[in-house]
Amino acid sequence: MSKPGTDKFPPLPQPLPTPVVDNHCHLDFGDRDGGRALSVADQVAAAREVGIEHIITVGCSLDSARWTAQAIRAHEGISGAVAIHPNDAADIARTGGQSALDEALALIDELLDTPGMVAVGETGLDWFRTSRKDEVAREAQFASFRAHIDFAKKRDLPMQIHDRDAHRDVLDLLVEVGAPEKTVFHCFSGDGEMARECAEKGYYMSFSGNITFKNAPELREAVIAAPLNRILVETDAPFMTPVPYRGKVNASYLIPHTMCLIAELKEVSLEQACAAVRENTREVYGV
Ligand SMILES: [Zn+2]
Repeated sequence: MSKPGTDKFPPLPQPLPTPVVDNHCHLDFGDRDGGRALSVADQVAAAREVGIEHIITVGCSLDSARWTAQAIRAHEGISGAVAIHPNDAADIARTGGQSALDEALALIDELLDTPGMVAVGETGLDWFRTSRKDEVAREAQFASFRAHIDFAKKRDLPMQIHDRDAHRDVLDLLVEVGAPEKTVFHCFSGDGEMARECAEKGYYMSFSGNITFKNAPELREAVIAAPLNRILVETDAPFMTPVPYRGKVNASYLIPHTMCLIAELKEVSLEQACAAVRENTREVYGV
């Protein structure tokens, strides 16, 4: 079995002085993909060793949403979020039309009632993989995003947003239809100006390992601009592995690398940064 510290998986970092929660990762990748990532039990154990006391795993395709509903029943220390990813919404509508998308959304609506589901996500808009000219895919993404906003509001659940190359459209739609009370920009990808706009609206910003990337000065500007009481931390594992381990597989236990940079940018102690992030997480998700 693969473990932290082997060639694929970076070693365990120094434990955090105060625990935090990984509010967005994809544990199913490890479970499904025969050792490409760590098993759920290994992930939870490794994370706990370095002060990540809880993990929210996100299922955003039909298969992984079903997997998530099972996993949160079977494992301690994890909660779930489910949705149809904007790129999946586009694919479903392209191949099966509106009725297939409606069916998929109905399943998500049902799975959200599973005990241990603490958020709707990830939903939103992605103009990186969908061309602005692809009408069907574009409409499907908007329709799916609106449906998820309703799911969150009717249950009073927080919503995790996937926003790729779609900042303005996402922000405008939230204003148009009214954002859920707790709205989180997962893997925040805006700049300082957008962070200020999100803060004004009361949205939360969840930062991942990509804030450590050399070519991402605007993300570090965003961390500086975001008020400490609006900041969350995540891995988006197995993606977004923080420096100095880019190219290896990401997992929740690597959050300390990201937390250290958040503390440095906010000019507070690591302990203060962790305590603030922990408190924000509890406020948003109740975990
Ligand atoms: Zn994700």
